[in-house]
Amino acid sequence: MKLEDFIREIPDFPKEGILFKDITPLLQDSLAFKQAIDELCDYFSQVEFDYIAGIEARGFLLGPIMAYELDKGFIPIRKPGKLPAAKISASYELEYGTNTLEMHRDACQPGDKVLLIDDLLATGGTAQAAVDLIEGLEAEVIGIGFLIELVDLKGREDLKGYDVYSVLQE
Ligand code: AMP
Repeated sequence: MKLEDFIREIPDFPKEGILFKDITPLLQDSLAFKQAIDELCDYFSQVEFDYIAGIEARGFLLGPIMAYELDKGFIPIRKPGKLPAAKISASYELEYGTNTLEMHRDACQPGDKVLLIDDLLATGGTAQAAVDLIEGLEAEVIGIGFLIELVDLKGREDLKGYDVYSVLQE
């Protein structure tokens, strides 16, 4: 099955000039969804780690299923103002302005090994901010997994030194 057939491209969403990769057709198809999760799990199943951290929102559609499948705990990395307990935050540059991500201060302990998951790698800023949060708690990022990588945006170069895996390269 060609998983790329289940990624729908929406021009000019959420703003002009962005070609949005919509993963909802993939989520909707039980076999495609399963294959995507299996490929991510297979790649990281050989590595030892403690937690999967997923980035809000679409990292929440993949990360918790992988955590269940691989018998790991799940850590949510969220947009500002959503987490109730003591937290740390990291900001990163967007084309216009900045974005912030937050994580609970007690989500992991120094030395814990964490696998980071999101739906898509573009410039890498989002993933780098999530890495900063995890490493800010002195935990170790043992890998970063995506469903889709937009290769031309070279986000992987920002994440040098990490084990980056993407199911689809577009
Ligand atoms: P970046 O920080 O540039 O790597 O952007 C990655 C984050 O933005 C991910 O959380 C994606 O969900 C989202 N994103 C960026 N570009 C796209 C796109 N073309 N289609 C869908 N999501 C995108």
